[in-house]
Amino acid sequence: MKIGIVGSGPSGLYLSIFLKIKHPESEVIVFEKESKLSKKLYATGNGHCNLLNKNLSKDKYNQPVFMAPVLEKYNYAFLEGVLKSLGIEVTSNGDYVYPLSESAPSYALYLKKLAEKVGVSFLIETRVIDYVVKGSNIEVKTEKKNYVFDNFVIATGGRSDPKLGSDGSFYGVLKKHGYSLVEPRPGLTPLTLNDKDIKPLAGVRHKANVKAFLGKEKIFDENGEILYKNDGISGIVIFNAESAIYRHKFPKDIELVVDLFPDWDFEELVKRLAHDEGLNSKFYLDSYLVEPLQKHVLARSKGKDALCVATAMKNLRYSVKCHYNFDYSQVTIGGVSLEEVDENLLSKREKGVYLIGELLDVDGNCGGYNLTWSLISAIIAFKAL
Ligand SMILES: Cc1cc2nc3c(=O)[nH]c(=O)nc-3n(C[C@H](O)[C@H](O)[C@H](O)COP(=O)(O)OP(=O)(O)OC[C@H]3O[C@@H](n4cnc5c(N)ncnc54)[C@H](O)[C@@H]3O)c2cc1C
Repeated sequence: MKIGIVGSGPSGLYLSIFLKIKHPESEVIVFEKESKLSKKLYATGNGHCNLLNKNLSKDKYNQPVFMAPVLEKYNYAFLEGVLKSLGIEVTSNGDYVYPLSESAPSYALYLKKLAEKVGVSFLIETRVIDYVVKGSNIEVKTEKKNYVFDNFVIATGGRSDPKLGSDGSFYGVLKKHGYSLVEPRPGLTPLTLNDKDIKPLAGVRHKANVKAFLGKEKIFDENGEILYKNDGISGIVIFNAESAIYRHKFPKDIELVVDLFPDWDFEELVKRLAHDEGLNSKFYLDSYLVEPLQKHVLARSKGKDALCVATAMKNLRYSVKCHYNFDYSQVTIGGVSLEEVDENLLSKREKGVYLIGELLDVDGNCGGYNLTWSLISAIIAFKAL
């Protein structure tokens, strides 16, 4: 058996290793246009590589209906077992799971060396420009020469920072082959805001609850640390809010509501503010908020009494302008429609062609859900090959 895989990201890399371990006699060639394998993997999890999540809920993905049976079959225990079978030990922080080294570069290197050891062949700096299905073979065209395979797996990822390899250029090839695409949009990015009064807050961090509304409909509600920027707002909770918003095709009237003290209900916060103001009316807010955020809250408060200040603290409303662009996106929302593949991720359109990883219209929240999908999609295709 001769299998070609385009893309050495985690999905292509995992699949190549599974195949060579199970079928040592087969030839597995991975094409990578960059000079380094799996470039994006090095940048994951802030350099720590958040590779799985213990709470693998379907609702963390844009495709809950598709993911429900998939996650039932490939649950956390199963996936951890698969990694262990490859010699990968993990550690966790809450639900977030990392390689024991907690180092993305070490993890990427480990996978590369393992792939080489089991006999995967890599063709780096080799861009696949097209392919042709000819009877039961697939001819893969690169800028240098052509190769013929029994099966061809497309694992070219989505679109994010092109420096990390994800330029989205393979979407064009697939469009030419007739595949339908759900319009790719940047996912897990900061948000720009229309509110000009946030400028002085740039650099300020605070733990908060964030809700997102499209018109009157609440579509997101999560706690986490926010980070104000010159033109908007960032932080993991905001990345997740951004994805929740832009999974909607044409989101309109987008509003964020930030509660700076979600652990206390309104009455409790009023009681505490009133008490503390009584003790030191001049500087009691110093124990609640850093100065720029105090000023921001007071400027938005209808009065200086505890009731008004608590109302402002629990209801900072921001109007969302847009997401940041693809250079900042950690995952692509959209991609090749799931309608184009069967339950084995085999193309319904072209014989012997599989599509895996972020290339497909599957995106997850921050927290390891996207690398989890890379792994699961590689396992699904592996089982069918
Ligand atoms: C900064 C950052 C941090 C992240 N952190 C996390 C995290 O901690 N946890 C998590 O779950 N997810 C994280 N992600 C998302 C995760 O990295 C991706 O979802 C995952 O890498 C997708 O894997 P993939 O194999 O499908 O595609 P990719 O990793 O994008 O790999 C695709 C590969 O295909 C190659 N390629 C493309 N076209 C061609 C061609 N024509 N010819 C040859 N080669 C080609 C590309 O160069 C690339 O190497 C992060 C993303 C970013 C940008």
